[in-house]
Amino acid sequence: MKSLLAVIVAAIGLAALAAQPARRSVTLIVVGGTVITQNAARDIVSPGAVVVDGSDIIEVGTPDAVAAKYRASETIEAREDIILPGLINTHTHAPMVIYRGLADDLALMDWLQKYIFPAEAKTVSPDMVRTGTKLAALEMIESGTTTFADMYYFEEEIAKATVEAGLRAVLGQTIIQFPVADAKTPAEGLARAERFIREFKDNGLVVPAVAPHALYTNDRATLVASAELSRRHGVPLLLHFAEAEDEVRHARERFGATPAAYLESLGFWGPNTLAAHAIWVTDDDLAILKRRDVGLSHNPESNMKLASGAAPVVKYLAAGVALGLGTDGAASNNDLDMFEAMRQASFLAKHVAKDPTVVPARAALDLATVGGARALHMERLIGSLEPGKRADLITISMRAARQTPIYDPVSHLVYATRGDDVRTTIVNGKVLMKERQVRTLDRAAVIADANRLAAKVREAVKSR
Ligand SMILES: [Zn+2]
Repeated sequence: MKSLLAVIVAAIGLAALAAQPARRSVTLIVVGGTVITQNAARDIVSPGAVVVDGSDIIEVGTPDAVAAKYRASETIEAREDIILPGLINTHTHAPMVIYRGLADDLALMDWLQKYIFPAEAKTVSPDMVRTGTKLAALEMIESGTTTFADMYYFEEEIAKATVEAGLRAVLGQTIIQFPVADAKTPAEGLARAERFIREFKDNGLVVPAVAPHALYTNDRATLVASAELSRRHGVPLLLHFAEAEDEVRHARERFGATPAAYLESLGFWGPNTLAAHAIWVTDDDLAILKRRDVGLSHNPESNMKLASGAAPVVKYLAAGVALGLGTDGAASNNDLDMFEAMRQASFLAKHVAKDPTVVPARAALDLATVGGARALHMERLIGSLEPGKRADLITISMRAARQTPIYDPVSHLVYATRGDDVRTTIVNGKVLMKERQVRTLDRAAVIADANRLAAKVREAVKSR
């Protein structure tokens, strides 16, 4: 016979068990590291944990609080690592990794007209674009980029390779006045863009877009038609803008206006436009860009390498425009490492302003995360680690000699970290790389295919 005491103890035990809520099953928990949330308060949780269910973040908290509430099918240990929102590259041409190092040390117009456009005329094909995008995706996954904005040809092939790799992207089908590999006329390019938009409009990873190359490579009618197409389908409109001084001279001579004012007169600027470079911009231009809520992409490495100039980043930050950071294509950078882009954005701004206090590490990190999300008009989905946002995040090792010791993790991310330090890359809740092993792409095959294509490019350039 049980003693009365035993019965009481058993009853209390059962009550305690009943009071403890069952732990919710989730798909993934990343736990143990310093979580740099990039939320509005810029909270840092250390040690912290990020809880993911399906494609979404459902909670960010301490490891103990999270362990008490959730049970995960997969757990990623990130002790001593930094857990960061995935980086957002707001301007690139993914397949151009195939032209990496093909022609360096030239001015923008020489580089484009003597090397890049001729090489593209002979070698751009669906196969080149697919192979190049896979190589670019491999590099982006390995260096912590989770979203990129692209402008190129055969964009549907880029989209398929992007989805296969598991990355998120805004992909702009190029519209250009002269005959190119995927369209003989701008009208053909526009028709191709419309087919592409219809095909990928409801894709969970890819946002299709229209990308008129620039105002100096498209006439008035093509620019207007591009803007109309983007508005008709509610998709983004991307272009190169105010990149070279020549472009401003060309606009003033032909249209009697700055590039920003000319595009304003065409009704080009809308609430979903992204302008890459924006270097040569007057105060009046800035007022137009701000009024139209144009997203801007700053590309410090490409701008320095091509000596295009320095975008007025300090002015942009003070004005509160939507400013993100990009690498530009690998032919003018020559890599897609967003850590380097953050570092160079900070250094270039300091150098130009002769003021080391401008664009501090915190501001550079913002450009590559929340800033990029805003520039792409995707701030409700990505850019920070908060419940309700998509689970796009990375973990970064802080154990290299170069990163020791750590006083301020944000300083290290911008001034000492490299893409190679990224250990885990997660997009839309899916683990694309763990312990530097990429799960979605066959690394050896991607690199072998790229080298095979490079042999064709070498031939094409030799025979010109
Ligand atoms: Zn570009």
